Formats: sequence, structure tokens, C-alpha cells
Amino acid sequence: MSPGLESPKYPNARNFVDGRFVEGNGAFLDVTNPSDGSLLSRVPLSSATDLDTAVRSAAGAFPAWAGTPIKERVQVFFRYRALLERHFDELAELVSEEHGKTRSEAEAEIAKALELTEFACSLPQITTGEVLEVSRGVECRTDRYPVGVVASIAPFNFPSMVPHWTIPNALSLGNCMVLKPSELVPLSAGRIAQLLTEAGLPAGVFNVVHGGQAVVEAICDHRDIAGVTFVGSTKVAKLVYRRATGNLKRALALGGAKNHLFVLPDANAGMTSGNVVASMSGCAGQRCMAASVMLAVSDTDHIVAGIVQEARSVVPGKTLGPVISLEAKQRIERYIGEAEAAGATVLLDGRNTEVRGREGGFWVGPTIIDHVRPEMNIAKEEVFGPVLAIIRTKDVDQALAIENASPYGNAAAVFTESGAWARYVSDRASAGMIGINVGVPVPREPFSFGGWNESRFGVGEITGRGSLEFWTQAKKTTTKWNSQGKTNWMS
Ligand code: NAD
Repeated sequence: MSPGLESPKYPNARNFVDGRFVEGNGAFLDVTNPSDGSLLSRVPLSSATDLDTAVRSAAGAFPAWAGTPIKERVQVFFRYRALLERHFDELAELVSEEHGKTRSEAEAEIAKALELTEFACSLPQITTGEVLEVSRGVECRTDRYPVGVVASIAPFNFPSMVPHWTIPNALSLGNCMVLKPSELVPLSAGRIAQLLTEAGLPAGVFNVVHGGQAVVEAICDHRDIAGVTFVGSTKVAKLVYRRATGNLKRALALGGAKNHLFVLPDANAGMTSGNVVASMSGCAGQRCMAASVMLAVSDTDHIVAGIVQEARSVVPGKTLGPVISLEAKQRIERYIGEAEAAGATVLLDGRNTEVRGREGGFWVGPTIIDHVRPEMNIAKEEVFGPVLAIIRTKDVDQALAIENASPYGNAAAVFTESGAWARYVSDRASAGMIGINVGVPVPREPFSFGGWNESRFGVGEITGRGSLEFWTQAKKTTTKWNSQGKTNWMS
């Protein structure tokens, strides 16, 4: 078939506004299956007017939804959780198709969506206010109120999980939402909207507007949006955070990452090799929690050898998915080439990988590069592919200095059998999420997810218990039932 005439597997993605799917106004972008390059669908690059329609729908739904007791609101999510479970296979398949990740990685993503939904179902138990008799017959109480219409802007690397970071909590706490999925992976959002509707969510409480930069800018500028969350690259996180807060909205913008794994000579070699390889190659390295730089402290040759051996067993097309696009493949291969040219040793080379029968896919095999130096681009910049750069250091302090110099600060992990060294590193690493003998230290609910430095802009948490602060505002009430006239509220 000639280019441009291929018919997509799925119909065009549509916006979801006021409980219905509607066409977006704007050009369409092709949505490609990264594992074979086939056309999956087309996504509208919606306009500011499309966004405005969705915001008006959300604002219209807000008073009734916010006025619904939380115990009733979460009933929707109990039913939604059951629907996620019932449609588990189909939802995982869709994630795998639009993102490219392996089937088991896609299943893990839907399992995480379930966990996030379960947490929201527990919110009535933990979101109780506070009350205290502050003087005789006088009490102060705090109640939590939703903030209003909120927007959630998502990246490509978790088409279902990242939207679920925000949807169940924000909505259970009484907000109405506009979700802006990544234009590279727009399909899961449509199923989320359908299943929320089937679960009984009232029209307007949840809306989806597809698109790119124009919609994101319109979100940051819209005067009826009270709060914005963003998850994506640091470059765009900075733009969104500045623009949204400049327009006096509360904002939380999670950015990119460059995660360092400290491997000490006493580490359990087998366990460490498995963990490091799973961390650098899982989801084809396209995780903000992926291992990117391994700081091999002192005499760790035996562990490096184990890592290379382990990485050889990762098979593109079977246990390793493709990267998201041709541009991503070219970018990753460029980093490898530059490091090699600068004197690093490529121990395992994933360039020019092909998968038989899926030659149109964007494949990069697992890649291990040794003797990388801290000043090389591959050591400093986010590569976002299945690539591990190994920097040799003479001691732990030298390794810490390298990690601390990174502008990012999402995650760091240390592999050692020594509790004292583990504590030494976890105290000093400049990252918000630390793994001790854990290569992908994602905190599970009710703990909150989030990094430090240029991996997160804004105060508060996007998930878990900490997100209550972000998704609500506190109302403080002082009540006096003391009838003694001369006694004031301070007495
Ligand atoms: P991205 O920044 O390119 O895109 C994220 C969102 O921003 C998308 O919805 C996109 O449409 C929009 N966008 C893109 N360019 C824009 C612009 N110039 N102005 C306004 N909006 C724009 O990120 P991505 O490539 O989709 O996702 C990968 C990145 O996300 C990586 O850097 C990864 O580390 C990061 N990420 C971070 C976390 C975290 O928790 N810190 C989690 C997942 C992904």
C-alpha cells in the first residue's frame, strides 16, 4: 500500500467531553505501533476551543460532584476497579500495541492502575479532617475541599499508569478533570473514559482532550483550571510549571531523570546483575525510574561481567520491546556512538537490532557501555533507552560526587550487603526515591511517588497519601458554643 493510504487498525482517537466522544478540531497525527511501524490510529491535535468546551463541561459538573459525599464518590471507583479487572487482558493488549512494551510489562502497568484505584477507594478512611477544642467551648476544625477543575498532562511511556496516578485520587476527592494524554499513545485514554462512564461517573467529571503543545499551553492559560499536573521531560516540565504558576494555578510538574545505581564490591553478584539489567532494559529503558548510570565502585569486575551475561539473555521482540519512535531510536544510537568515539568500551551493542517479521519496528537491543567518563553526554543526559553507562570509581565518595552533580534527582539505588554503606549512600544521594538492593524503587501506595531537583517542580505529591494536599484545599473553621459573654475565643 502506498504511504498515507494505509488504513489504521483503530478509528481516529476522539476527545471525550461531557460524557460523549466528540471530534477534535485540528490536524490529525498518525499513531504508530512501535513494534512494527504499522498505523494504529490517528489523533487530533485539538485546539484551545476544544479545551475550553471540555473545561466548561468539567466546571458545570463540579458543584454536584464536589457536593457528593466522598463515600458515594468512591463507589464509582469500586465499580471501576472491577471493570479494570474484567477488561485486564484487553487493556494490557492496547497498552502493548500503542506503546510497544512487552505483554508482561503492559500487564504490570494495568496491575499498577488497579493498585492506584484501590488506594482511591480507601480515601474516605484517611481523609478525615481534624478537630480540637482549642479553649473552653471553642473548637477549630479542618475540612478538605476539592480545588475545582484540574488538568492532568501525561507522557508517552505509561499510557495507562500515569493517567491513573491522577484520575482516581483527584476525582474521588471531588475534583473534575481534563486529561491530556500523550499524542503518541492516545488510545488507552479512550478506554479509561468508557470504563469510568460504565462505572457510573457523571458526565463532565472526566474529560479527555487530545493534542500537543497548543492544548498544553491552553491548559496553563485557562482561567477556570485551578490545578495542573504534568509528567514528562524536564524541558517541558519547566515550561508548564512556569506558565501554570504564572497564571496563579497550583502546579506539580514531574520531569525527566538520570538515575544512578551504586554497585559496591560486596554486593550479591547474582541478585545485583538481575536487578541492574531489569532496571536498565525494562520497558526498553523508557521509564523515569530506569537505571541509566551504574557507578561501579572499586573492584566490581565480576559484577560487570555478570551484568553483561544477564543482558545477553534479554531478547528484542520477546523480553524487550521497541522504543517509541524512529527519532528515539536514532537519538539513543547517537548517544552510544558518541560515547564509543570518546573512548568508552561498548561491551554489548544494541545498535542495528532487527526483529524478524517486524523489521518496521524501532528496535534497540540491550546495550552496556563500560569506562564511561562523567563528562560524556551519555553520562549526563537522559538517554531513555535500554542503555547502561558504567562509570568506574575508586570509592563511594567519588561515586556520590558524580550522582550529586546531576541536575536530576528522581531515583538512586545502592547494591551492597552492608547496612552501614547502604545508609551512607541513601543519606547522601540527591534523589527523591532510593532503592537499597532494589533497581526500580517505585514506592507503592500509600507511599507517594516523586523525585527531587529537576525531576520535580512544585511542592506536594502526585500520588499516595501525600497527594491529598495537592488535590484538596483546607477550610479552617472556628466554632464557639460557649455562652459566657465575656469569654472570647482566645480564652
Ligand atoms: P514530553 O515532555 O515530550 O511530553 C509530555 C507531555 O507534554 C505530552 O503530553 C506532550 O504532548 C506535551 N508536550 C510536548 N512538548 C511540549 C511543549 N513544547 N509544550 C507543551 N507541551 C508539550 O515527554 P515524553 O517524551 O512524552 O515522556 C518521556 C519523559 O517523561 C522522560 O523525560 C521521562 O523521564 C519523563 N517521565 C517522568 C516521570 C516522573 O515521574 N518524573 C514519569 C514518566 C515519564
